[in-house]
Amino acid sequence: MNYTLRLFSRVFPRAVFCSLLLFCFAASRDVEAAEGWKAGVGRVVITPEQPIWMSGYAGRDKPAEGKLHDLWVKAIALESGSGKRAVLISLDLVGISRQVAEQWSGLLEKNFSLKRSQIVFCTSHTHCGPVVGETLSSMYFLDEEQQRLVDDYTATLPEKVNQAVAAAIENLHPAALSFGTGTATFAVNRRENVEKDVPDLREAGKELKGPIDHALPTLFVKDTQGKVEAIVFGYACHATTLGFYQWNGDWPGFAQIELEKAYPGATALFVAGCGADQNPIPRRTVELAEKYGKEIAVAVENITDEDTKPLADNLVTKYKEITIPFSELPTRSQLETDTMSSDKYVASRAKMLLKTLDSAGELSATYPYPIQVWSLGTETIVFLGGEVVVDYSLRLKGDLNQPELWVAGYCNDVMAYIPSRRVLLEGGYEGARSMIYYGLPTVWAPQVENLIVDQVSEMVSSNAE
Ligand SMILES: [Zn+2]
Repeated sequence: MNYTLRLFSRVFPRAVFCSLLLFCFAASRDVEAAEGWKAGVGRVVITPEQPIWMSGYAGRDKPAEGKLHDLWVKAIALESGSGKRAVLISLDLVGISRQVAEQWSGLLEKNFSLKRSQIVFCTSHTHCGPVVGETLSSMYFLDEEQQRLVDDYTATLPEKVNQAVAAAIENLHPAALSFGTGTATFAVNRRENVEKDVPDLREAGKELKGPIDHALPTLFVKDTQGKVEAIVFGYACHATTLGFYQWNGDWPGFAQIELEKAYPGATALFVAGCGADQNPIPRRTVELAEKYGKEIAVAVENITDEDTKPLADNLVTKYKEITIPFSELPTRSQLETDTMSSDKYVASRAKMLLKTLDSAGELSATYPYPIQVWSLGTETIVFLGGEVVVDYSLRLKGDLNQPELWVAGYCNDVMAYIPSRRVLLEGGYEGARSMIYYGLPTVWAPQVENLIVDQVSEMVSSNAE
């Protein structure tokens, strides 16, 4: 017994002293138990069992014919020192609709006592995955049997998402989180460069044109022994290396496979960045998709401990939907004219919108756009809906003076492309034509960029949840 304790035992009667000691011990155990992150992962295969229609390209003329590798839903659950939870769900899918996200989040909120802000769905945008729900509704011309297969497949997903999340939450155990940023260079601005010229320009060491974001934001989750158990990584590039008839996750699928080889026993989860105007170039071969996957894995392995920052165990989650307006809506007579268009996609959209006009009496002039922000210690992740062009991540990193800000796209609801003001005014596929395939009535109003950036800035800067 040291001097202090001896003094205490003289001053306090033994019984009081013992209870005091017990109280202190119990209190310190509570603090100890509450300190530090907990993390857990879960995964379920979502490769369709039936030969159903594949998503992402309008030009396909038959359903899938087999698989190159499996598609997955993977979930990572995080729990902060104070016991707050968040679940990130990564899916090898082209995108999900608002209706699908609402159904899934409702299920998870109920089953796991979570709020909407604590759940995020991140889709990889693979163009070799299945058609799901209503996403890109004017792109495909499915017969009754194909539509039934798509509906049946979509109906199998809530249970699989739920299983992955249940496993992740059951698996929660003490962990350390750290964040670092690597670099990968295969994303090319597809609006500014001619695809066939890119290999020669690269060979000649010439600079390619247009804005790009080659950052590879990476979250490392390690166990108490320092072993990597999960890697969550992001990159701003379309998953469009491949366009054939076998299921696969494109380069993000290969990147996950390569990372899981490089870190045995770990789970790799992909979060697509603002890559709506970025393509992996060159492309079209399985070897290239595999090569880009390896490039990502090597770049993650090259993020050294000195390049990463440990993340303190506090977690803030925010979710908001803002109203973003379309430009001037088409009139009924314009839509009626469009139903006779020689462009079958324009005609298909017009027929769909006329049905909405008949049933609802009007077309909505706005869209409820989802924005989600998580802070993990000192790292902030912004999850945006839709196919977001690279201008958003570049502008937000600059405006908020956070060069390591992680800005993701294709989250929660992939309702359309989200062009910046620049891309919107330039037009082209990302600014205008893509709206047809998404079944939306017209292009966005020019204030779309500022509305989103202002809301993100407010959510990142304010302390309110
Ligand atoms: Zn796309």
